[in-house]
Amino acid sequence: MNNNSPWLHQLQRTRGIDKLMSDVQTDVAVVGAGIAGVMTAYFLLKNTDKEVTLIEAYRVAHGATGHNAGQIVVEFEKEFHTLVSEHGLDKAAHAEKMVRSAWVLLDEIYQDANLETPMSSFMGYNGYATVDRIIEELKNNALRIESDIPVFPIYIDENAMGLDQIPHEYKSLYSLVPQENILSLLETKDTQYIGVMSERKGCVNSAMLVEEVAGYLLSKYAGRFSLFEESPISEVVLEENGGYLKVEGQKLNAKKIILCTNGFEKFSINNTVGEEIDTKFHHMVIGNIGYMAGYLEELDHPPMALQYHDVKQIEGGHKELAYQENPYPYVTRRPFELEPDIKHNLVCAGGPEQNIEDTTVYSHSAAFMDRALDDIEDFLQETYENAPKGYIDFKYKWHGLMGYTPTNMRVIGEEPKNKVLMYNLGCNGVGILTSIYGAKRISQIVSGEKLPISLFDPKDSYGIKTTDLD
Ligand SMILES: Cc1cc2nc3c(=O)[nH]c(=O)nc-3n(C[C@H](O)[C@H](O)[C@H](O)COP(=O)(O)OP(=O)(O)OC[C@H]3O[C@@H](n4cnc5c(N)ncnc54)[C@H](O)[C@@H]3O)c2cc1C
Repeated sequence: MNNNSPWLHQLQRTRGIDKLMSDVQTDVAVVGAGIAGVMTAYFLLKNTDKEVTLIEAYRVAHGATGHNAGQIVVEFEKEFHTLVSEHGLDKAAHAEKMVRSAWVLLDEIYQDANLETPMSSFMGYNGYATVDRIIEELKNNALRIESDIPVFPIYIDENAMGLDQIPHEYKSLYSLVPQENILSLLETKDTQYIGVMSERKGCVNSAMLVEEVAGYLLSKYAGRFSLFEESPISEVVLEENGGYLKVEGQKLNAKKIILCTNGFEKFSINNTVGEEIDTKFHHMVIGNIGYMAGYLEELDHPPMALQYHDVKQIEGGHKELAYQENPYPYVTRRPFELEPDIKHNLVCAGGPEQNIEDTTVYSHSAAFMDRALDDIEDFLQETYENAPKGYIDFKYKWHGLMGYTPTNMRVIGEEPKNKVLMYNLGCNGVGILTSIYGAKRISQIVSGEKLPISLFDPKDSYGIKTTDLD
């Protein structure tokens, strides 16, 4: 099968499909029913009295939300120290603290909606193969401590070459241990790894989560919430105090329009009362196809999430495709119910990525690249010590599209050229917690709360540093 995601396999969908069949008026139109759109609807409905309409081109959770690794992790696609040098310590720390706060938001959602979608939370481990890379992590942690962000210790191989290069000021931020302890945490025998950092991580089927939340919203807010699927929007028209979406001959009129389309838009934006938005918007997000594969094993190990940084290029591997500039393959393991009452562990691995200039050419039904599967298999055999020896029977192989904004940060907030339009988009490969934080932030803005300037503000994605803003 071309794109066989375990997360969609598990969706037990019982709802029918409602399409937009006539013109509709609403307070807030949310476009895109992935985790960003559904969580944005959730917080808008919970924290405001607005009527909310969620509109989706295909089906709830069938975009990146149904094709990811499902790791819950606080991570940006930029080093924390880089964010600090670009934007200053306060703004970088604010961004990280806000994304960390999404762990609590996730708990809030689970409690409110009494969710049954399994979620595991545990300590995950990131492995490092070079002292240079470890020094970067120590630099990040030193800056985090300055901003009162809690950090976990980094463990370094007591016999590693180059320990003398580590600046003395970082001494309290790491402990020297036998290498076997590091390899054991990373579940590997590959002696290239000389350092490990632990952090809180989790695993969830984000498609199942989003589908369950959508069902909850439909029943809890029956008078204020509508959901239309198989209703692609082709144009966003912005006016003075509102706008409308064109949907196959129908119009969805709204006072606010929130794009949660992950950036892979197939629509135009017409700002009838101000500067043009379209061109910039369409060039804002570039794409990366991420390839993943998963196999089932006995349910005899606890859940885990591991990342391996600076991994060496695999001998004979397909270097042009896999583990390109900054290789970091990852593995997760979590309980998985294949069919009702048949439980296994599902082990998923990813890492191979392919850049595409034009995200609109990506198709979820495109063939899975065989070379990516070879790379994943080679990586598992070489690195993950619990992988089956020899042939691995991958039950699932899937791919999804990551959208990279120019700043590598998610874009959350009002479009400066017309505040009717708002964004919670741009997944950048790690987006579960940022989407949830973005959803809460959108509800605060719509409620009229004055929020401090943040690295997520749309202005930033236009290439202007927040430090330059008034
Ligand atoms: C391979 C891979 C691995 C990943 N691993 C992780 C991970 O481990 N942890 C993590 O935090 N993040 C991960 N991510 C990122 C994470 O999955 C995304 O950040 C998140 O799912 C984005 O959610 P979203 O709602 O913004 O986008 P999506 O889920 O893509 O939803 C956008 C929706 O908008 C709809 N849409 C688009 N255009 C229109 C239109 N014209 N009209 C109507 N609807 C439209 C789409 O159909 C889609 O359903 C990964 C992503 C990939 C691809």
